Amino acid sequence: MTEATGSGVNTLARQLVKELVPYASARSSMSGGAVWLNANENALAPAYQLDGTFNRYPSCQPKAVINAYAAYAGVGAEQVLVSRGADEGIELLIRSFCEPKLDSITICPPTYGMYAISAESNQTAVDKVLLLNSEQLDLDGIFATRPKLVFICSPNNPTGDLIPREQIIAVLEHFSGKALVVVDEAYIEFAPQASVVPLLSRYPHLVVLRTLSKAFGLAGLRCGFTLASADVINALKKMIAPYPIAEPVAQIAAQALSAAGIAQMQQSVATINQLRSVFIELTQQLPGVLRVWPSNANYVLLQVADAADCVSALINADILIRNQSSQLGLSQVVRVSIGSPDEMQRLQQAMLNYFSVNKREHA
Ligand SMILES: *Cc1c(COP(=O)(O)O)cnc(C)c1O
Repeated sequence: MTEATGSGVNTLARQLVKELVPYASARSSMSGGAVWLNANENALAPAYQLDGTFNRYPSCQPKAVINAYAAYAGVGAEQVLVSRGADEGIELLIRSFCEPKLDSITICPPTYGMYAISAESNQTAVDKVLLLNSEQLDLDGIFATRPKLVFICSPNNPTGDLIPREQIIAVLEHFSGKALVVVDEAYIEFAPQASVVPLLSRYPHLVVLRTLSKAFGLAGLRCGFTLASADVINALKKMIAPYPIAEPVAQIAAQALSAAGIAQMQQSVATINQLRSVFIELTQQLPGVLRVWPSNANYVLLQVADAADCVSALINADILIRNQSSQLGLSQVVRVSIGSPDEMQRLQQAMLNYFSVNKREHA
């Protein structure tokens, strides 16, 4: 049988869909390579077991997972929503709080790409207020916007720095009764003291996003959490799919959030933080590295002379890193995820080779 070619089918799609540029994820835009340091995954992940049968539909919000995450985060069970990754949390927030074509969100680039992508697919305008020196919020700029949602990423992806708590409080005070303030804590396990979860009891319009994809080493699981007041959580529950969490996902998430799972996660965070310090020290000594951002997460942002050339040189050494030069406010930067000790050894050798060759050519 020949494949039906869809002449005319493409013209049936919504105008919005025809114009949409999909998110180029690290996994979709690059493949091959033996050492994957381009998606901020955790290379030190444990293995998990599944049991049971799967003939029944799963619970929409599996209690064991909700209760375990609530205990881990130090909030009430009614303040937790579990979803298909933090990405679905972002999408649910936008779909639940932003009226298409009327409302807007405010984001602070350079930052995580999905806020803008989810907004665009909901026909929601995006106000971009650049970070100052790529690490501080431009409060006056943010206060000049009229959003329904403000997204703040801390530790920020891709720069790695923490947004100062007093700045987040200033944003919360300003938008009280006007907008939700969403703090994306996807990497908070690498700097747990910086979490704004303790502010949830003071600010009913604060929302915190969390995930099992990064420190917990479960990017393939697709499991994330939204923490907020019960009113916000109940609004999101109206919009979420009836069965967003597959039963195998719920089983593995519950194991990851057991005392043993959390201890294992904390162990890998300590190892990664240690490997990161060593890597930062090395890069600071490489003459071809023009700037090294301090990091509170499992990745490091580097400015180099030619980011595309650096990325392709490392591909030749079978190592994938991510070019972040298209980010607003950044140029000629690469983001390197911290991998296993063995992977970091290979990375460091490849970088030493690349930068010493380049140094000779430019001398
Ligand atoms: C990886 C990441 C997410 C998405 O997490 P998932 O749970 O895998 O969907 C959200 N925010 C930031 C800042 C991230 O880096």
